[in-house]
This record gives sequence, C-alpha cells and structure tokens, in this order.
Amino acid sequence: MAEGSSGSADFDVAVIGAGYGGATVAALLAHAGRRVALVEKTRRAGGKTQTMDRGKYRYEMFGAVGIPALNSRFHELVDVLGVAERVPFLVPQGDVASVCYKAPSGEWRTMRSPLVQTGDPQQIDNLRRVFGATDDDLTAFGNMYAAIMTLEGEALDALDDVGMLGWLRSFRLPEPLISQVCTQLNMLFVVPVNRLAASEAILTLRQQALGGAGRYHARGYGRVAEVCAEYVTEHGGAYFTSERVRRVLVERGRAVGIETGEDRVLRARAVISNAGIQPTVLKLAGREHFPADYVERVEALEPSWAIAGIRYVLDAEVFDAALIPIFSDESWLDDDRFARMQAGSWPEIPVIGIDVPSAFDPSLVAVPGHQVLNSQVFCSADPATPMADEAIRRAEVVLDELWPDLRKHIIRKEPYGPLQCSGLTRDSVLPGCGGEAVGLAQVVGQCGKSKPNPRTPLPGLYIVGCDAGGRGAGTHQAVDSGFNVAAMVDADIG
Ligand SMILES: Cc1cc2nc3c(=O)[nH]c(=O)nc-3n(C[C@H](O)[C@H](O)[C@H](O)COP(=O)(O)OP(=O)(O)OC[C@H]3O[C@@H](n4cnc5c(N)ncnc54)[C@H](O)[C@@H]3O)c2cc1C
Repeated sequence: MAEGSSGSADFDVAVIGAGYGGATVAALLAHAGRRVALVEKTRRAGGKTQTMDRGKYRYEMFGAVGIPALNSRFHELVDVLGVAERVPFLVPQGDVASVCYKAPSGEWRTMRSPLVQTGDPQQIDNLRRVFGATDDDLTAFGNMYAAIMTLEGEALDALDDVGMLGWLRSFRLPEPLISQVCTQLNMLFVVPVNRLAASEAILTLRQQALGGAGRYHARGYGRVAEVCAEYVTEHGGAYFTSERVRRVLVERGRAVGIETGEDRVLRARAVISNAGIQPTVLKLAGREHFPADYVERVEALEPSWAIAGIRYVLDAEVFDAALIPIFSDESWLDDDRFARMQAGSWPEIPVIGIDVPSAFDPSLVAVPGHQVLNSQVFCSADPATPMADEAIRRAEVVLDELWPDLRKHIIRKEPYGPLQCSGLTRDSVLPGCGGEAVGLAQVVGQCGKSKPNPRTPLPGLYIVGCDAGGRGAGTHQAVDSGFNVAAMVDADIG
C-alpha cells in the first residue's frame, strides 16, 4: 500500500523504517522543508512500540511506557511539529505503580507509588517497610541520588567507561536496595548492570527523578510515530507502508537512494536508516562499500537482550495498578546471572514487568472493566533462543501465585519474544542478533564517545534510532537520535 507518490521519484531524504527513530527524523526534516520519503515494511509506524488493533481491543505489540513521563524528548517533538493536541499524553494520578518484592524471608511485600515522584515521606517509609532500609541505608541512598542529580560535564563523560553496578556498590547500599535499583536499570536498558555504562544510567535516572516513570499516549503508545508519519505526507513527502526496502543504492561511492521490494526506486540526496546498523551496513548497503575496520567494528557490536512475554486481554480488572515490577534479591541481572539462566539455572522469581495500557487509557478496551496488558521477562536477543519459552513459562508460575484468578479471566493470550520482535523490526544478520528489545546495548565501549556515529563512512548514508545518535531509555533514546540526526542531515545536505 502506498500513500503519496509512486514510481521513480526524487527526494531530499529517504528514510528506511518508521520506528521511533525513523518517524522522528522524517517528520522533523519534513518540518524543516525537506521533501521526505518514509518507507516502512509493516502496516503501521511505531517499530518495537507498534500499537495493534484486534477486534474491538487496541493494545501494544510488545508493551511500552515513556520514561521520563514529563519533560521528555516526546514533549519537544509534538511541540515542534505542532501536533500535541492529536496525541494527548497520559500520566495517571495517584499510587498507580505497584512494586512486588519477594523478601529473603519468602514473604511478598508490596509498595504503591505514583508514576511521578512527589518526594512524599510515605515513600521513605515504604523503603523501610519493603526493603528493610535503616537510617544509614537511607543516607547511602540519598548520597547516591545526590550524585545522580549533580554529576555533569567531564565527570559524567568519564563514566562512559565505568560499569554501573561497580558505581552503585561504591555507595554501600544494602542488597535489597541494590536489587531495587538494578531491577529498574535492567528494565530501562535490558543489559547486564555490571557493564551498563554508568553515564547513560545516571542521566536516565536523573530524568526519571525529575520527570517520573511512566507516560502513555492516548489510543496507543505508537500513536506519536503514526502522527509523525502522517505529518510527512501532510508536508509534501511520501509514506509507503507494507513495503520493505531491499537495498540502498550506491553510485560512485555515495548512497543515492533506495530500492524497495515493489521495485520502487526512490532517489534521494541522503538515506537515513532505522533498520539497525548491522542490517543496514551488512545487508541493505553491503559491506563492500565500507572500510574493512568499520565492518569489523559493526560486526562486533553487541545488542541489548530481548524481552519475551504475553499480551493478555482480560474480561475483568485483575490488576489494580498501571505498572507492576516483580522481583527478589536473586532476580536482577548482571553477566554472571544471565549466563546461569542461559545454562538453564533460573532464579525462582525472574524480573517481570507488567504494563497495563488500559489503566492509562480505558478507551482501549471494548467493554468497560476489561483489561489489556503485557507481561515481560528478559531473554537472549537470538530469535531462535529456547530462553524465550522458558521465560514465559516461569513468569506464568509467578503470576499464578500472585493473581490466582488471572486464568479465569483471559479472553486472549498471545505469547511473543525475540523471534516476533526481529520479524516486526530488524532482520537477524548475525548469529545471536535481531530480537534485541532496545537496539545497541548501552554498555561500556558502546556509549558516549564510543557509540557509533550516525554518519557512516559511506557518504550520504546515516543511521537513526537506538543504534546511533541518541541517549536515554528505549523510545526516548530513539527520539533523541531522531532530533540529532535530523539536525546533522539538514546541515550536511545544505
Ligand atoms: C517488549 C519490549 C518492551 C519495551 N518496553 C519499552 C518501554 O516501556 N519504554 C521504552 O521507551 N522502550 C521500550 N522498549 C524499547 C523500545 O521499544 C525500542 O528501544 C525503540 O522502540 C527502538 O526504536 P528504533 O527507532 O531504534 O527502532 P525500531 O523500533 O526497531 O524500528 C525500526 C523500524 O524499521 C522498520 N524496518 C526495518 N527494516 C526495514 C526495511 N528493510 N524496510 C523498511 N522498513 C524496515 C521496522 O519495521 C521498524 O518499524 C521495549 C521494547 C520491547 C521489545
């Protein structure tokens, strides 16, 4: 299906993929007066945060909320484009997050909190009650947050090369608070906390402290990407859906356009790819167009882990919160713990995250009181990994224990994992890669000054999204990249 012009065409910019990186860069360049072609292989914009419609229910393909909730790159995006009224942002009020922590004693403890922090003394009491924090522990926790709020400039940049777990341990936090922070970091970045770049983690925890932990978009988290794609056609560009880009056209050592599976040729002065750096370099453009050392670096890049889980549609409000993290002290993941899981030795409680979109936007469900939600557990990015089924099975055991009525209320239950994620978003072009939940792993050696440059060595070819050009958690990073790459390409093409 095509919206806009067809056949051979000349554009300023051709964008491959309408995930959050691609949709953002395309809309911002259209806003800057560039003629943009945006080509998406699936039916809908949004990439890994695509929203879907099934029957009378609308829900998330993989589950997502925005972090930070307020003061985000998403707010800047809808403001710059003037589309804020088309996608209201939703942050429910009150104690709508519910932490479920299984203490070493075996007892489940629950902590309710708002999505946007209030500094309420009740939150301090919660840390004492749920995690057994003493006055000394709370002082250590306060020192850690003081550092998070104040580190800047060179001191922060130096932490590109420091693993976050080591940095956290320097504050001498007790194990339950380490578990709380590390679980949160696993959920934000989907990488081992020992190698998570401390600079990246600190920036995001600061954004979260200032702007809260969850934002949803009315009528679906993917709606902002959909509106960005519409914006392209409304501003003189073209948007093609269900059309896969087959290759990047290279002439005389320069990217000059793209060719799609429909044999459509779109010539452009710049090509921006949201298809992932490895699929773009190794498959769409072809390694022969890049220096050998660049190809070697691209092949060695490490993806984030993947997420396996279940989309549930329920005929009752089984879950009474919007966001529910579930964990014990054995749950959070560094390299060693993940390697043990890969070898078949799982913790009793894996880290489980539950997002309940209908708690943000009740209009998503056909019948008032019904619920749509996603449960999520970590596994390898390899689309063929057996970890995905095991992760889902183990999460169901925990959900049955905590919500014994859940199974009685299931209208629809759809398991997913790295295989589906790769199919919907990026091709698997190297062993163990393709199903990654975020994109490039935000680990030491791949962040800050060591992150790939969005401008590739092939003139005219750029990377956008979570592999280059941005910082932050998940979609926030993709949109940040979209802003930065739009400015870069706009300047380069003059
Ligand atoms: C289960 C799960 C839960 C998550 N939860 C959150 C969350 O709560 N909050 C959050 O912020 N982030 C979350 N994330 C991460 C977030 O979704 C990603 O980091 C982000 O969406 C990646 O954006 P991107 O622009 O880099 O690329 P992608 O989303 O991967 O988009 C790439 C796009 O390119 C298209 N494409 C690829 N190849 C081609 C081709 N050859 N031709 C045409 N089109 C092509 C794809 O179809 C896709 O639309 C989650 C991810 C998963 C999987």
